[in-house]
Amino acid sequence: MTDYPLTGGCLCGGVRFEVTEPLLGAGYCHCTRCQRRTGTAASASGRIAPGSLRILQGEELVRSYEPTDGFAKDFCGFCGSALWSRNPHDPDWIVVRLGAFDGDPGIRPSYHQFVAYAAAWQEIPDDGLPRFPERRTA
Ligand SMILES: [Zn+2]
Ligand SMILES: [Zn+2]
Repeated sequence: MTDYPLTGGCLCGGVRFEVTEPLLGAGYCHCTRCQRRTGTAASASGRIAPGSLRILQGEELVRSYEPTDGFAKDFCGFCGSALWSRNPHDPDWIVVRLGAFDGDPGIRPSYHQFVAYAAAWQEIPDDGLPRFPERRTA
């Protein structure tokens, strides 16, 4: 049983946030961008219900990388921790990094996407989840 709000933050503790409602879905992204952004083989993120994210402290520390062709990636400008990404065309579409939560986010990743670009140095786990070569389609 997961208690709400969920809480989370960055590594240095400067940014703290809460998510007030259950997450809508979660998955692993193996795209090259996520590999660069995280320094790992894949990124685990969960989409949140519209309006359910609140920054509790450190809003002034939150920086954003806004590529011209994709979601804005928000992170702590002091310690560099990834926090969430935002669809620039839809303020209700926010995806929080599962590793930013303090405890159990109450959801499990249910797919792997962009596996065509998966890191050569780590095998995709044989976890039975559907794999999509490009962006998840279903
Ligand atoms: Zn920080
Ligand atoms: Zn990605």
